[in-house]
Amino acid sequence: MACVSNPYPYAAPVSQTLFDRAAIVTPGGVNSPVRAFRAVGGTPRFMVSGEGPYLTDADGREYVDLVCSWGPMILGHAHPEVIAAVQAAVSRGTSFGTPGEGEVALAEEMVARIEPLEQVRLVSSGTEATMSAIRLARGFTGRAKVIKFAGCYHGHVDALLAAAGSGVATFGLPDTPGVTGAQAGDTIVLPYNDLDAVHAAFHAHPGEIACVITEASPGNMGVVPPLPGFNQGLKDACAKNGALYISDEVMTGFRVSRAGWYGIDGVRPDLMTFGKVMGGGFPAAAFGGRADVMAQLAPVGPVYQAGTLSGNPIATAAGLAQLRLLDDAAYAKVDAVSTEIRGLVTEALSKAGVAHRLQVAGNMFSVFFTADEVRNYDDAKKQESFRFNAFFHSMLSQGVYLPPSAFESWFVSTTHDERAVERVAAALPDAARAAAEASE
Ligand code: PLP
Repeated sequence: MACVSNPYPYAAPVSQTLFDRAAIVTPGGVNSPVRAFRAVGGTPRFMVSGEGPYLTDADGREYVDLVCSWGPMILGHAHPEVIAAVQAAVSRGTSFGTPGEGEVALAEEMVARIEPLEQVRLVSSGTEATMSAIRLARGFTGRAKVIKFAGCYHGHVDALLAAAGSGVATFGLPDTPGVTGAQAGDTIVLPYNDLDAVHAAFHAHPGEIACVITEASPGNMGVVPPLPGFNQGLKDACAKNGALYISDEVMTGFRVSRAGWYGIDGVRPDLMTFGKVMGGGFPAAAFGGRADVMAQLAPVGPVYQAGTLSGNPIATAAGLAQLRLLDDAAYAKVDAVSTEIRGLVTEALSKAGVAHRLQVAGNMFSVFFTADEVRNYDDAKKQESFRFNAFFHSMLSQGVYLPPSAFESWFVSTTHDERAVERVAAALPDAARAAAEASE
């Protein structure tokens, strides 16, 4: 019988039992690899409910949640207005396979917030969004090659998994079996924040590059923001060479500002991708951008893309309710709590004498256990991630839920109030000491 042992003293027996059951019927016991705690060790917590900034696991323990479902729950868990919108939608039926007003309203809300977003097509996951955007860019330009950056994660799209971030970074996987040479052969992987490499690639492949896809501000190798001028340089290089600039805002979109990262750096993408926050905790995602490019999509144009559950009425109701609540005051609140927690983390790690670097993109942030600035994936991999593992387990044992990987952003919400922040503050000194004492 499959059984994953738990070497950690603060074992969660009900979670352990569920994990053992799960491991029999599901590979690794999880439906998305990073959830498995493989990098940090121990038993993943099976959560049964969430309210505001808190999660409760199957053993009845409450945690301050600094993952927020990997970004979407920017209003906290079970926000009453989002829940009411979902309940109203579900009472009318769950899926019609026809157009519905909710899809129109959600698209209108997105287009109103982001000026270069002239049209959007709704899909069900960020992976679908980036896969479709790449296909559209290839169809529009008639070219095959795609530039992506090492450490950026764009979902598990075959052509985009090379040197990817997120779980691929967490587990140190070089590349993924199952992706054929043909599928990856048109992908050019370059170091992040290196415009010279981008210019050299365009020079080496004249008239062959369909697009450059980049995380608007990467959060999947930890938080590694673009250096000043990097995104604009990408846009200019694309414009000069007849390629499309695709900004992947699945993580940053509607999280770091009303208009996502575009609202911060103002660089106009040709295409953009979204997910996470726009779904309000349901599977909703989108890609969109220039109307002349989007006009290539079926049924108007020849580039095919479709989805049985695309624009699902419950997902669109949840997403719309969440977006409508995300006004300037909400972003100010998330920014403020992010600043406060960052300050507490730095203070605790500094006091414990732990070399670290806190990197920030809007209200997203992560801690690298290194003294040096992290500008790309190679830098990120140089950190002492064994210190993160000790830090993580100390926080977990004290009721603070962090992403179980040193290569992921932390996320907060409008509901992380004084009580929640105090609990984080109380846990940090021990966790910092654990990080200081950790050895490989
Ligand atoms: N793009 C980025 C920047 C992401 O962070 C993610 C997921 O974390 C994806 C794409 C893929 O989204 P999904 O997990 O919804 O397929």
